[in-house]
Amino acid sequence: MRASRTILSRGDYEMDPKEIRDNSPHPSPVEPRELKLESRFRFRCHEGIACFNACCRNIDISLTPYDILRLKRRLAMSSKEFVARYTVPFEMDADGMPGVKMLTKPGTSECAFLGEEGCTVYEDRPVACRYYALGSMAVRKKDSAEVQDIYFVVRESHCLGHDEARAQSVAEYRKSQGIEPYDDMNREWRDIVLKKRSSGPTVGKPSVRSLQLFDMCSYDMDSFREFIASEGFRNMFDLSAEERQRLAKDEDALLRFSMRFLKQVLFGEITIPLKDGAREERIDRRKALWEQRRTEAISRHR
Ligand code: SF4
Ligand code: SF4
Repeated sequence: MRASRTILSRGDYEMDPKEIRDNSPHPSPVEPRELKLESRFRFRCHEGIACFNACCRNIDISLTPYDILRLKRRLAMSSKEFVARYTVPFEMDADGMPGVKMLTKPGTSECAFLGEEGCTVYEDRPVACRYYALGSMAVRKKDSAEVQDIYFVVRESHCLGHDEARAQSVAEYRKSQGIEPYDDMNREWRDIVLKKRSSGPTVGKPSVRSLQLFDMCSYDMDSFREFIASEGFRNMFDLSAEERQRLAKDEDALLRFSMRFLKQVLFGEITIPLKDGAREERIDRRKALWEQRRTEAISRHR
């Protein structure tokens, strides 16, 4: 069975751990007990343990926007370079919502960042690695708008950490693994993915352009930085000079802003002010462009 150092929250929003387990086509390592922040569980991972790094040798890790930001900064490369060199694309849903997974070494299921001594990017390892052997899931209970985080234990046979004596609460474990800033930075993104999924066919199939925007806003902060510096963006949105400078320098702020932009584009949740008349001007420009193309097409056929 494939080890799943992955956060199930990205894929099973509407289910609880028991449902995930019951619906899994394979024997599932997910324990059916739903954990809250104060729930306690037994687990300890340390360098001296016999299974050290076993969980990094057979991975299936979906990356989040903040994972990519941290890793590309650590490796001093652009987000585009990082995604091209260290990830593989996949579709998160039937509508083709783009996702990225951690690359494995050629011909193996071993993480590309596993070295002789262990994880070579440990301080910036993805949030799925930090959570393991817990899983986390954002659940919107039926008939409720409220999104709630729940946790569960993922117990895989290769992982001996479950036999250790240390017990801790989920909150203590999250703190010890540096998970809080990751969840904080990814929360808006998770909500967008969840909202998109729950709206399903009611909002129709997303356009190619909206999927491209989702891809850029999620995984390519360098292109997004260029995008908001473009003339088209500046003509459309009313940002102060200070705000533009802040976004040019602070990548964490840029990622938060990109989520606001996505919500505005995908769901019409306006939080970035538009310039007076910008929307009308844009519609007029598009109409003029279409008219020009139509006229050119007609004259070609004559
Ligand atoms: S990033 Fe590090 S901790 Fe995560 S699977 Fe790879 S080697 Fe293991
Ligand atoms: S205890 Fe579990 S999480 Fe830690 S190294 Fe072993 S397999 Fe990985």
